[in-house]
Amino acid sequence: MSTKTDRLPTHLEEPVVDPLAAFDDKEKARLKRVAVHVRAILEELDLDLEDPNLQNTDIRVAKMYAEMFHGLREGNEPRVTTFPNDEGYSGMVMEAQIPFYSMCSHHLVPFYGHAHMAYVPNDQIVGLSKLPRILEFYAKRPQLQERLTEQVVTYLERKLKPQGAMVVIEARHLCVEMRGVKKPGAVTVTSAIRGIFHERPIREEFLDLLQKTR
Ligand SMILES: [Zn+2]
Repeated sequence: MSTKTDRLPTHLEEPVVDPLAAFDDKEKARLKRVAVHVRAILEELDLDLEDPNLQNTDIRVAKMYAEMFHGLREGNEPRVTTFPNDEGYSGMVMEAQIPFYSMCSHHLVPFYGHAHMAYVPNDQIVGLSKLPRILEFYAKRPQLQERLTEQVVTYLERKLKPQGAMVVIEARHLCVEMRGVKKPGAVTVTSAIRGIFHERPIREEFLDLLQKTR
């Protein structure tokens, strides 16, 4: 009697890695449904899905979208605590050159660049590390640069009730560079202002400080 089988000793077997192991059942089911549709697109494009490089591309794309659009999911709002402005600081607080990546709503290709966020406090200030998180939350979804700029400045206004706030975003859009008008290197600049930033001197101070960070 032999106990020999074709199986390798357990420790030499290829581990079966579930690419969705990190997700709960509901999310897993959703990502699988997304993957089915991605696969259908690849098939319609006559791609050879037996190609090793395309195996699991459907599920990879589904996971990538989940990551890039995580700002849409409930519970992913940044936890932003504010602190009393005990020192009565009344100058400008600016966080400049914050890098971000987002996805254009129109074409689902990336746009990316830097944001510059500033506010002049009233009673409340915010931890500086929170400013990039606010940006990230609104960037991680299908987005328009104009809307992103407005959403970030609106968030600052609501959360901090500052004397004013200003956000400038400079970005390159791959939908402009790779397709359509094909203008590599073109930079789109948007700005949104609230409160005292409507006054020219404070806008000039913003631009002045921004210049110093370049
Ligand atoms: Zn686009």
